[in-house]
Amino acid sequence: MYERSFQLEIIAPTRVVFEGEASSVSAPGTLGGFQVLFNHAPLLSSLDAGPLKVKSTAGVDTVYATGGGYLEVRDNKVVVLVESAELPRDIDVERARAARERAEGRLKSHDPSLDMVRAELALARALNRLRLAGRR
Ligand code: ATP
Repeated sequence: MYERSFQLEIIAPTRVVFEGEASSVSAPGTLGGFQVLFNHAPLLSSLDAGPLKVKSTAGVDTVYATGGGYLEVRDNKVVVLVESAELPRDIDVERARAARERAEGRLKSHDPSLDMVRAELALARALNRLRLAGRR
């Protein structure tokens, strides 16, 4: 085990996305992006849609598109509960484009019966997926 690593779990509703040792995690915190390294102070943060970057003990970076969630740090154990997390190669670009267009249409409509916050969040997820898939 790399001596400045910590235990990391990334858990989505239907699967364990990552379980193992990592040397760094960079996360899209609701109050701003942040990085967790070995011996980080205890922390609980909500996450927005954005890139979730894991550096392995060998120094290799893996980026996931996450739809938001929570991250907790305690005693060199980091648990990330995410609504969704995809590797760039697993992102369905057409689906993300369709989601972006739906959300943009709702936001432009000014229809008072629509939930605009929900549309904003859907747009943020779609834009993040397209960015990480390299299509925006
Ligand atoms: P959509 O309206 O297309 O469902 P969404 O942003 O509402 O998009 P989520 O609720 O964030 O979707 O995700 C639901 C599930 O679908 C998750 O398992 C997520 O990983 C997957 N998912 C959503 N969009 C994509 C995509 N473009 N490519 C791959 N997986 C996706």
